[in-house]
Amino acid sequence: MTTIAHARRALLPPALLLSAWRPAPAQSPAAVAPVTFAVVGGTLVDAASPGPRRIADAVVVVRGARIACAGTRIQCPVPRGARVIDARGAFVAPGIIDAHVHFSQTGWVDGRPDALDARREFPYDSTVAELRAHPEVFGRAQLCAGVTSVFDVGGFPWTIPMAHATSERTDMPRVVAAGPLLSTIDHWLNLPDMRQFVHMSSDSVVRAAVREQRYMGASAVKVWYIAQADTALARRGRAMLGAAGDEAKRVGLPLLVHATDLAEAKEALAAGAKVLVHSVDNAELDDDFVRLARANHTIVIPTLTVLEGYADVLLGRDVAARYPLDCVDAATRAKLARRLPANERITTYFAGPVPKRERATMEANLRRLLREGIPIAMGTDAGNPGTAHGPSVYRELEALQSAGMSAAAVFGAATLNGAIAMGIDRDAGTLEAGKRADLVVLQADPTVDAAHWRQPRVVVRNGRAYRREELLPR
Ligand SMILES: [Zn+2]
Repeated sequence: MTTIAHARRALLPPALLLSAWRPAPAQSPAAVAPVTFAVVGGTLVDAASPGPRRIADAVVVVRGARIACAGTRIQCPVPRGARVIDARGAFVAPGIIDAHVHFSQTGWVDGRPDALDARREFPYDSTVAELRAHPEVFGRAQLCAGVTSVFDVGGFPWTIPMAHATSERTDMPRVVAAGPLLSTIDHWLNLPDMRQFVHMSSDSVVRAAVREQRYMGASAVKVWYIAQADTALARRGRAMLGAAGDEAKRVGLPLLVHATDLAEAKEALAAGAKVLVHSVDNAELDDDFVRLARANHTIVIPTLTVLEGYADVLLGRDVAARYPLDCVDAATRAKLARRLPANERITTYFAGPVPKRERATMEANLRRLLREGIPIAMGTDAGNPGTAHGPSVYRELEALQSAGMSAAAVFGAATLNGAIAMGIDRDAGTLEAGKRADLVVLQADPTVDAAHWRQPRVVVRNGRAYRREELLPR
């Protein structure tokens, strides 16, 4: 089979795709939120430009799915007859934006048989069929954790129409998706009739795949740029990355790149990457990196903790010690509680010096980016083993802070910068009139400690307010 046919086959026509992911019909008319209400008396915090805002005794008026007014009591009088959510003593913030997730992965090894093969018990095709049929399971866990927008940066073609399907929903975060990953290696983690990895085998395949993704409604082009030792393959990979960047620019889509080595990350920036979804972990960033990132206005998503998730699952550690699992559905929780058979290779790797060294390098690189003023967004890589959709954001938010980022900077990364990375900042990321009413009411101030994002009291998505308890798995 030619690779063009291969690439095209991966990308179904849009009519099929749009029917492939149906919103659950379960929403009652009340869920559509035509009502007006006001969140009253809390301290409003957001990262609105030109500087962070902090308004004591604030009012946020919500009309339908959008914010009608957000400011002081004088600026935003509570409309007569509006329902009032009392936020006195609490903090009202934009919902968390997780700018690095994968709906094509489960949060455990059944979604990553390339990491640890559990296919005998969890056949990959049925795992993916379940993911495709019920993304709202993860959507609920995300809202429960206070996450109101997510960027799916690579997966099966059915992730693309989720953007359209979720924009008006009140029971799922807003999803923006890149669709299938263009890859330098012909990775096998596909289905016989559907690809999530499109092998960048030639210039024409790359360009056709980018154009098709655009046609299907993808919001970005993602390249999985895996370093290759062989110089000829590395040279070809570089050319393919360049073609992807060039074609993405031509069709008006931002280029996102997975590149964890310094050389590859700089090549990604040279190819025009607007978002890097991982940290460089093999070397300290150099001036070239900084210069290229600055010239591109690149946003970096450090994704510090995903490997911790792998270690927890593969070594049988307690994931719940990292972040609370009460928002996570029972089936995923049961999988996370399993003890996998010991594997010497894995044990040796995690006991060795590499993971620690890489983490230290990532953290040092994050500090350099902060000093240089390169924008940072928060993303977890949720869906990977041990990184559950939703509450794994707390582990990442706190890791960013521990690495040397101020809580206020983490706050900006988890809200406005995430919205900018996703291209939805006109609609999300701050609490301003006209934007979607996607917000959380927190017990304590998230701009003084990233740990205060844990346990939102109220979550509002597209104008529908939930108490956290309502969002716990049924
Ligand atoms: Zn990822």
